[in-house]
Amino acid sequence: MKVRFLGTAAFEGIPALFCGCELCKKAKQLGGKNFRTRTSVLLDDDVKIDFPPDTLTHMFRDGLDLDKVKHILFTHSHSDHLYAEDMVARFPGYAKSEDHPIHVYGNDMTLAKIRQTFEANQGERGKFQLHRVRAYERLELQTAMAVPLLAAHDPNETCLLYYIEKDGKSLLYGHDTGTIPEETWAWLKNKKLDFVILECTMGNIDYRKTHMNVEAVLETQARMQEYGMLKPGSQIVVTHFSHNAQLLHSDLEEIFAPHSITVAYDGMVVEV
Ligand SMILES: [Zn+2]
Ligand SMILES: [Zn+2]
Ligand SMILES: [Zn+2]
Repeated sequence: MKVRFLGTAAFEGIPALFCGCELCKKAKQLGGKNFRTRTSVLLDDDVKIDFPPDTLTHMFRDGLDLDKVKHILFTHSHSDHLYAEDMVARFPGYAKSEDHPIHVYGNDMTLAKIRQTFEANQGERGKFQLHRVRAYERLELQTAMAVPLLAAHDPNETCLLYYIEKDGKSLLYGHDTGTIPEETWAWLKNKKLDFVILECTMGNIDYRKTHMNVEAVLETQARMQEYGMLKPGSQIVVTHFSHNAQLLHSDLEEIFAPHSITVAYDGMVVEV
């Protein structure tokens, strides 16, 4: 399974819109891996997680054929993960797309936002099919199996993580979330994970209620080791960084290298 990190920033991006903080200034000077767009990943060509407002940029940069996507899994409805207005670009009159519908999976709030946007644009006309998901209920995608898991993120909606099996490999998509809830640990603890994606929005800031910081990532890794969830060769990657943490890509690498955790950057591709 090929995992492509399309974007690796939290809501504001890095450098952030309108921001003159020290990190944003440095990121502008240095560019490269310090430029981060809003978070999404693509699994092979056909399963995408979230649809952020930078999707057009991701397509330009990586030469993607987005019409090969058959399934989009949504974690939650925050605007850095869902920009339904650009999904409308697949409708007749805006794109010569293939006939197959893209299957869209999400919680009730995510689907309501998508439906409202679609209805304001004459409806989806066979281009998308919406599926409401519930935590811990298995989803059969053509080339993969996915299970949504409860996150600890926004108390106003049922935010989800995803456990995914594809090509004989298992992956945990771990954000947005603060410390992973106990019921999700109870579901996960007997699983063996080949690839784990965790957020580290907060860096070294002392906060981990609705997002993770470095300490929360390391505790999550330790708990996975304790439960025997990580095999030799399993990888952990951190992503979804905020400029508020004031950490350059090289700073993050310095923090995580001793723990054998990889720091994602925009456009990074990992063969799992
Ligand atoms: Zn986010
Ligand atoms: Zn900033
Ligand atoms: Zn969020």
